[in-house]
Formats: sequence, C-alpha cells, structure tokens
Amino acid sequence: MQTIMIDGKKLANEKRKELKKRVEHLLTPPHLDVIWVGDNPASAVYVRHKEQAGASVGIEVTVHHLPESVPELELLDLIEQLNQSAAVDGILVQLPLPKHLTESNILEAIDPAKDVDGLTSFNLGHLLSGSPQMIPCTPQACMELIESVEPHLAGKLAVIVGRSRLVGKPLFQLLLAKHCTVLQAHSKTVNLTSLTRMADILVVATGHPGLISGADIKPGAIVIDVGISKMPDGTLAGDVKTEDAKGIASAITPVPGGVGPMTVAMLLENVVLAAERKQNPVSED
Ligand code: NDP
Repeated sequence: MQTIMIDGKKLANEKRKELKKRVEHLLTPPHLDVIWVGDNPASAVYVRHKEQAGASVGIEVTVHHLPESVPELELLDLIEQLNQSAAVDGILVQLPLPKHLTESNILEAIDPAKDVDGLTSFNLGHLLSGSPQMIPCTPQACMELIESVEPHLAGKLAVIVGRSRLVGKPLFQLLLAKHCTVLQAHSKTVNLTSLTRMADILVVATGHPGLISGADIKPGAIVIDVGISKMPDGTLAGDVKTEDAKGIASAITPVPGGVGPMTVAMLLENVVLAAERKQNPVSED
C-alpha cells in the first residue's frame, strides 16, 4: 500500500493564507500576548515560532518573559491586567511552568474569551457539552490533518493513545462530534496493540518515542503522530516508528512537519477568531 505523508507544513501555510485575508478585514490587527516563565530552551523555540507565525499573518505578538522565580500572585496579576486590556485579543501561557506555580490556577485565571489555547474549564466544558467556543489547538490540528485525507469520519473507529487535558481528552470530543466510535487508551491500558490494531484512525500522543510500530497498525489506517521527543543525538522523534508504518498505514503525519506546524496555525486561527468576535467586523467576505 502506498502511504501518504500528510504535509503539515503545507496545510499550515494554506491556513495562514486564509487567516491573513481574515485579518485584513479587521478594523485593527489582532493582538496575542504570550507569557513565558523561565528559560526552558524548548519553550524559547516555541515562543519564537509563535512570534514569527503571528507576524506572517498580521497578528501582533507581545512576549512577557518572566524570571523562573516569579511568584504566582505576580503572574496572576499580569493575567488580570491582560484580561482587562481592550488591546489584547488572546492570552497564551507557554507550558510547562516551573514547579512552584500551579498550572490549573494560572490557566483558569485567563478570560475564556481570550483563552486561545482553549484549556480553561469554561472552554473544555463547552466542548464537552457540544457548543465549542475556543477549541484547543493540537486536537483541532489533528482533526484538520485527518480530514485532509478523509473527510467522511462517521462510523470510523478512532483510537487515541493518551488522555491529557492538552491533547487526548479534547480530541475525544472532537472525534465523537464527527460521529466516530472513539476508544481512549492510556498508560494503564492492558494489551494496547489489540486496540490500536482495530483503529481506522489512530492518534498517538504519549511522548514515548517509537511506542507504536508497524505491527500495531491496522492496514489502511490513518495515523496521526502527536508525540515529539528530543533524542540523545539531537534529532526529533515521534511516538510512531514512521518507517515501519510506511506500506501499512494509508496516511501518516511526519515528525517534525506534521502536527507541530498545524498546531501553531490553529493557535493563530483562535487569535483571529477572538479578534473577530470582539470587533464585529464590517464584512465577512
Ligand atoms: P502528557 O504527558 O500530559 O500525557 C501523555 C499521555 O500518554 C498520558 O495520558 C499517559 O497516560 C499516556 N501514556 C504514557 N505512556 C503510555 C504508554 N506506554 N501507553 C499508553 N499510554 C501512555 O503529554 P501531552 O499529552 O501533553 O503530550 C504528548 C506528546 O505530544 C508529547 O511528546 C508532547 O511533546 C507532544 N505534543 C506535541 C504537540 C505538537 O504541537 N506537535 C503539542 C502538544 C504535545 P496516563 O494518563 O495514564 O499517565
């Protein structure tokens, strides 16, 4: 079987072109505020990508770089200022946070209308109740990548490996909303292979490089590899052995160049959406 490599970079570029046009219809450019605490080198790269990607579609990005030791109250104060500012459309707190900060306290402090990561209980709750307001970026990226190769999802068996708040749990709701039958696996799942081998759509988001090999994949399945791990030799690896999957899967996302670029594009879309809702644009065409 010929396996399609789903080109996340290309799809993300197409999405950006569409977003640039939407930005041109706004009265003022959208504004994203990114809060970055500490000096995690991976976060530095992700924050820079977000600045560059924002600029490419006309989104203004301000980065608030705070010291590793910042007290929680100081961070909460900053979020409150940004919540109150009419100039701010989107607020993103770069994760992970240093251990002395309580992630849930910080995320829940963000005004849901400006929560462009979609991770507040308000936005996750709306997703669960079937009236999504702001959809988390990585799960939404997975959906776009799946639908780029298979628009008809009703009745498909989808297996998600991973149940995090960031990826697995919201993705379950998105696949369910498209009428898939969804199974969710995690670290306590017994006989993972027996589940993954049934999947028409297999999404893997564990952070365990090479967890899924060719024998774990149903012939003809669509495979979305969310995992990104830095290997000792400096290269990046996904959770799926891509070379193994070739010839078995009908389509697979590469790492890098699959879910990552699309996740950034979905973040930009959420910022544009927040600005559109706020500004009530003159024209939609
Ligand atoms: P978390 O560590 O929060 O969650 C990992 C999940 O995988 C957990 O639910 C865990 O189960 C499950 N898991 C771990 N080991 C196994 C195993 N052996 N078998 C089955 N399930 C297992 O990670 P995230 O969801 O935040 O991220 C997952 C991966 O995706 C990471 O590599 C991350 O870097 C990457 N990522 C990539 C993004 C992108 O833009 N490309 C964006 C976000 C994340 P349990 O709940 O039982 O512990």
